[in-house]
Amino acid sequence: SAAELVAGRRAYELDRRHVFHSWSAQAGLAPMTITKAEGCYVWDGEGSRLLDFSSQMVNTNIGHQHPRVVAAIVEQAQKLCTIAPSHVNDARSEAARLISERTPGDLDKVFFTNGGAEAVEHAVRMARLHTGRRKVLSRYRSYHGGTDTAVNITGDPRRWANDYGDAGVVHFFGPFLYRSRFYADTQEQECERALAHLDEVVAMEGPGQIAAIILESVPGTAGIMVPPPGYLRGVREICDRHGIVFIADEVMSGFGRTGRWFAIEHAQGGDGESDPVVPDLITFAKGVNSGYVPLGGVAISAEIAASFDERTYPGGLTYSGHPLATAAAVATITTMAEEGIVENAARVGAEVIGPGLAELARRHPSVGEVRGIGMFWAIELVRDRATREPLAPYGGTSESMNTVVAECKRLGLLPFANYNRIHAVPPLIITDEQARAGLAILDEALEVADRSR
Ligand code: PLP
Repeated sequence: SAAELVAGRRAYELDRRHVFHSWSAQAGLAPMTITKAEGCYVWDGEGSRLLDFSSQMVNTNIGHQHPRVVAAIVEQAQKLCTIAPSHVNDARSEAARLISERTPGDLDKVFFTNGGAEAVEHAVRMARLHTGRRKVLSRYRSYHGGTDTAVNITGDPRRWANDYGDAGVVHFFGPFLYRSRFYADTQEQECERALAHLDEVVAMEGPGQIAAIILESVPGTAGIMVPPPGYLRGVREICDRHGIVFIADEVMSGFGRTGRWFAIEHAQGGDGESDPVVPDLITFAKGVNSGYVPLGGVAISAEIAASFDERTYPGGLTYSGHPLATAAAVATITTMAEEGIVENAARVGAEVIGPGLAELARRHPSVGEVRGIGMFWAIELVRDRATREPLAPYGGTSESMNTVVAECKRLGLLPFANYNRIHAVPPLIITDEQARAGLAILDEALEVADRSR
């Protein structure tokens, strides 16, 4: 409506005058205004509808404005908006139960935070106190959050400017066959060599110094590299051998994104349920309540929780387990379970998006590789398929990438872009028809990529 357009323009002017944006030089910014969102769609400041293939920051797993989640937040707001973390609250208790029910093994206690970075901060603090060690190992090509500890653990260029070299963090290479660091030709080789490399880094850094190894079960923003079978089990074994805490960061991959509640479930043995890979700590956020109210947390194993039975846990937050956020989590998880939303992500991923992207890769010379699982897909764009030279440099942008992203938006699709990649990460409620519509737009936008190589 005309009123919405006027309100949108006013919001834009005020934003440019007063709002300081993340990860950006402020002067040249021209952020997109969003005035409305529903299901898999958002509406921009000009009133155009876009299919949201980003789920914003890969968090609106249940889609925008799901009526059951909105109703739960309204109901909770009318009942009790906020209460100190030291008091018992029914929304928080129930959210903790629903999360514990879904985490593998004996991860049955939950410490709530406001988001992913704080979850990582606390998981690392727990691991350090539990082991009495300081060092943390994490992957290159990873993202773990923007606060000091989390950004130092991060293995992506956003760390560089925030790294003072004293964080007690050591980075290693994980499996990534397309850009193999290990001269591997097969996933099997990549897996074996990546584990041997990690084993060696542990030996060189001093196993007795290492508090934790932290990994995204499927690295997200860094490129959606689904680990080869056996890799996460191998990491678990290395941790067990040296008494190292295994932290699975499921902030982006958790709560249905990969077609299972947690991505680490894909690492189970051949017969599925009987031989799970169980990390000691799982960090989560985003999909836990689709970001309707900020929420994150750490799911904690019985052994680590017991570390703090008699000893005080030295950490806390005013809003730990905030009633509005946890009520939103209860409604989100319950609705996802009742409406088969995780199963939908697995099915549409396997039947429509996966095959559709594979077809795009066959037809477009700018596509080096497509990879992913569930509703979690990356399109790796290259100037040259033979050399695999990326369409934008590592940590940078390029005119070519900007043009492809602009073309997606012009055609009615909001993509998630990072360096030389476009990610197809829509809400998990997406229908076959919507997924096909998104693929058709990507098909057209990739023509631009093909030409601008
Ligand atoms: N960990 C992972 C794997 C993430 O993808 C992110 C955010 O994208 C974070 C941690 C940080 O979460 P937040 O931005 O909520 O602090």
